[in-house]
Amino acid sequence: MDPNEIFEYVTEGMKWLLIGGGTYITTLVGLNGIPRLFSEKIHSQEDLDRIIAEETEKLGMTITVISKFHEDWEARATKLDNGTYEVHLGGFSARRSSVRHELYHIHKEHHEHPWRNSNGLIRTLNYLLREEPQAIAYEVFRLKL
Ligand SMILES: [Zn+2]
Repeated sequence: MDPNEIFEYVTEGMKWLLIGGGTYITTLVGLNGIPRLFSEKIHSQEDLDRIIAEETEKLGMTITVISKFHEDWEARATKLDNGTYEVHLGGFSARRSSVRHELYHIHKEHHEHPWRNSNGLIRTLNYLLREEPQAIAYEVFRLKL
C-alpha cells in the first residue's frame, strides 16, 4: 500500500468519525429537546422554587440549591465558592425536565470531578460521553445511571 492510499484511508476514517460525532451530538440535543416541549412550563420564580423543592426531594438531595428564573433562554447549574449551587433557567429551558437535568448534574457531583482541571479534550469527552448522557437519561426517563 503506498503512502497516498494510507492517507486516503485515514481521511475517510476521520470523515466518518466526524459524521458519527455530529450525529451523536444532534441525537443528544434532540433527545432532551423534544420531551422539553411537553414538560411542565415554568412561568415565574415561584414556579421554579416549587419545582426545585419537589425535584430535589425526589432525588433525596440535601444540598442547598438556589434557583434563578430568567425571561431569556438560560440553562445551567454552577457551584459557588461557598459550596452552594445555583440553577439558572429561562426561556425555552424553563421546564420541569430542565430542572431534573441540572439537578442531576449536581446530584452526580459533576461539578466536583478532578477531570475539571484536565485539558480541554478530556474535559469535552467526559462531558459528552459521560455527564451529559447521564443528565439526559434522568431528565427524559428518570434513569439514574
Ligand atoms: Zn447538561
